[in-house]
Amino acid sequence: MAKNTEVVVIGGGYAGVMAANRLTRRDGVSVTLVNPRPCFVHRIRLHQLVGGTGGAVVDYREVLGEGVRLVVDTVTRIDAAGRRLALASGGAVGYDYLIYAAGSASAVPRVPGAAEFAHPLASLEDAQRLRPVLEAAPATAAVTVVGAGPTGIETAAELAQTGRAVTLVCGGTLGPYLHPRGRRSVAGRLAGLGVRVLDGPGTKVTAVTRDAVRLGDGRAPASEVTVWTAGFGVPDLAARSGLSTDAVGRLLTDETLTSVDDVRIVAAGDSAAPSDLPLRMSCQAAMPLGARAADTVLSRIAGERPSPLRSVFGAQCISLGRSDGIFQFANRSDVAVWFTIDGRPGAKLKEIVCKGVLGHLAGEAATPGSYALHRIPGGVKRRQLLLEAGRRAAPAAAAPGRGGHAPEGGS
Ligand SMILES: Cc1cc2nc3c(=O)[nH]c(=O)nc-3n(C[C@H](O)[C@H](O)[C@H](O)COP(=O)(O)OP(=O)(O)OC[C@H]3O[C@@H](n4cnc5c(N)ncnc54)[C@H](O)[C@@H]3O)c2cc1C
Repeated sequence: MAKNTEVVVIGGGYAGVMAANRLTRRDGVSVTLVNPRPCFVHRIRLHQLVGGTGGAVVDYREVLGEGVRLVVDTVTRIDAAGRRLALASGGAVGYDYLIYAAGSASAVPRVPGAAEFAHPLASLEDAQRLRPVLEAAPATAAVTVVGAGPTGIETAAELAQTGRAVTLVCGGTLGPYLHPRGRRSVAGRLAGLGVRVLDGPGTKVTAVTRDAVRLGDGRAPASEVTVWTAGFGVPDLAARSGLSTDAVGRLLTDETLTSVDDVRIVAAGDSAAPSDLPLRMSCQAAMPLGARAADTVLSRIAGERPSPLRSVFGAQCISLGRSDGIFQFANRSDVAVWFTIDGRPGAKLKEIVCKGVLGHLAGEAATPGSYALHRIPGGVKRRQLLLEAGRRAAPAAAAPGRGGHAPEGGS
């Protein structure tokens, strides 16, 4: 009788759930998903949880295939030589193949006072801690959102719509990813919601105190509640386990998402750095990466050569409160173009995307192998061109994030 193949997925976010569901398509493969919570976190709605306009917790039964065994625990170490994972509970799990999809969290801010007085908003626990802080603050309290990437913009707009006095401190450009036309549209909507936007040189936060944020140009706007959205960091699990990572700790892989150290380890989502040219940290990239990672493992099990990564459809979809939004289109190199859909249609599109994400995961749970967005033709050549351009421009090519939910400093 053929031996059963054990595949373990670390991390039950967008990439990990997509990968785990897809792996169940093959008989003789047992799939285990290790995640610290018994529920799925729909992270792209966390700003709604904070604003009290929506929830971000989803029952795994809605998105995870029945064939996947869920282990609620945290992996504390990967023993690649022994193909074992140590768990925080004290147990261990063995594997034949491992998918590393540990995602991202708030970067630990290096600005004085930020760790003490600013509230991050990158995980469920961050959002659950921030919400009562806001509820306890007077309605007129000055709220500052630091970081003007998509998370900061969405949070500022969401809170302003609930009547909060919000200042958005950009630390540079508002929405660095956006095309100037899209940026003008976002600025107009934020102004309409009453958000005070501080952008341009001199707006980097240099210190956070109990009641203010200090800026590079010497200004110190009052802030009773400071929300920190200036960049994501990744768990240090891969680095701590002795695996090769990029400068911020993402697992280094080749173009099939296979670890450069170990053919049995494959990575996906925010914590993967294929060819040291990671995709923009996003849910939009995490799901195709999850599907690609599963395909790589299934190819290896079948004794076939895995296919390389394709570039992912580029766009950024930002909510601006509940009745406005912007869908910023981009080219296949993930550079924003002039075309946007904004206003109410933009908000509707964003809502379709948020629901569609869960639909994709549920679809893959019900019919493993049905997801196909990671196979859109034409992307391999484009990515090779990007890689070549990156090699020519090194070391600048190592700069990750490329304008989205960027590691710290890039937002
Ligand atoms: C407020 C907000 C709004 C956003 N909006 C958008 C948006 O509109 N569009 C977009 O594309 N992106 C958006 N993002 C970014 C997006 O949420 C992330 O890029 C995405 O979640 C990455 O998916 P992932 O599967 O790689 O990781 P995650 O979703 O972070 O999942 C990783 C999982 O791994 C678990 N894990 C970590 N370490 C371990 C361990 N040691 N053992 C076991 N499990 C572990 C984590 O707890 C988590 O459950 C937003 C993020 C935030 C915070």
